[in-house]
Amino acid sequence: MAHTYLPLEEAVSLLLEQFSPIPAAEEVPLIQALNRVSADDVTAAVDHPPFDRSPLDGYAARSEDLEGASPSSPAVLEVTQRIYAGQVPAGPVQPGTCARIMTGAPIPPGADCVIRQEDTDYGEEQVHIFVSSAPHRNICDRGEDLRKGTPILSRGTVLTPAHLGVLAGQGMDRVSVFAPLTVGVLATGDELVSPGTPLPSGKIYNSNGTYLSARLNQLGMYATVEDRGADRLEVLTASLEALLDRCGAVISTGGVSVGEKDLMPAALEALGAQILFHGVAVKPGSPVLAASVRGKPVLCLSGNPFAAAATFEVLARPLLCRLAGWKDPMPRRVGGVLTEPFPKASPGRRLVRARLEGSAVSLPSGEHVSGALSALIGCNCLIDIPAGSPPLAAHTPVEVVLL
Ligand code: AMP
Ligand code: MG
Repeated sequence: MAHTYLPLEEAVSLLLEQFSPIPAAEEVPLIQALNRVSADDVTAAVDHPPFDRSPLDGYAARSEDLEGASPSSPAVLEVTQRIYAGQVPAGPVQPGTCARIMTGAPIPPGADCVIRQEDTDYGEEQVHIFVSSAPHRNICDRGEDLRKGTPILSRGTVLTPAHLGVLAGQGMDRVSVFAPLTVGVLATGDELVSPGTPLPSGKIYNSNGTYLSARLNQLGMYATVEDRGADRLEVLTASLEALLDRCGAVISTGGVSVGEKDLMPAALEALGAQILFHGVAVKPGSPVLAASVRGKPVLCLSGNPFAAAATFEVLARPLLCRLAGWKDPMPRRVGGVLTEPFPKASPGRRLVRARLEGSAVSLPSGEHVSGALSALIGCNCLIDIPAGSPPLAAHTPVEVVLL
């Protein structure tokens, strides 16, 4: 097949336009919602904290009673109540008095400042205060953290521990999230055997199945792995059908190029697929094929492990994250500067695995070839080198896609 290589951005747009179902929503306990995608906009229903409170152990007083107080001329106040966290004040602080108060306790009416206990003689019935205070000193205002009505998160946000903690602070114990996306993973190739079984000569272990499943899990998705990926048309069609029945999308690896045993295009044709593109202008992994089968996306990646990993990030990830309900499905891109030369010219657009620290972009020491996966260990980005680039010198500014 003569390939027309689609620019990457066009391929992504085409995928996002073609597949945009709104996932179903479900309510789950907060504690099970980490990495899930919020199905709702959430705003603060109540002020947090819910009352003015003390941030430290000390004395709640009236600042006007402390005017001119110093170690040599302390203010002397009557202590009329003790307020611990979780209690309510017994009454207001009158002129000439104060309240012993502990961290987290409500500020009593009448008091307008809290003096830390280290600036007093720790008096129980009467206290000597050695400092003056501006009004409002050491008072955490009600709503200081979040005012009622403030947006907390929007629909399509991937929930982090911080989101969940804030929702808990609002009194919520459940949250509405999109049903998780289940992605079928089909690793094809007669040479593949499953890890954990003996390795006959001429065979290799299937690493793509595990890599992609793990990456999908990291993105909050489920993976259903189909092991029957022999290079035989009827096996491939049966495996694809089984996955399409159970999953919202399917990713395959291998058998998508132009070799005699590259049967994925034929398998898709046999299933009546609509082919969206076959070939994207990026290396490695340019033979990638995208199709729609019964309205579901099937993305066929190269079998070379790094090619599969790289095209997964730039093509599959945006599509799958959109299907999972993410409001911003594109991987983040940032600028950086190469710490060392990249010695190859790039006649076509090229993705190179690398590590970004601050703005420094360094290359792993292992093999850069697309069949090698080990150099990906420790990498956190892909350098996106534009077509027509010469070898890159150290200190060249580059754009990277974060993994
Ligand atoms: P293909 O895309 O089928 O032409 O395969 C390209 C290369 O990737 C070949 O060397 C395959 O043996 C290798 N390969 C294919 N699938 C996998 C896999 N699941 N795990 C590891 N290597 C693979
Ligand atoms: Mg193959």
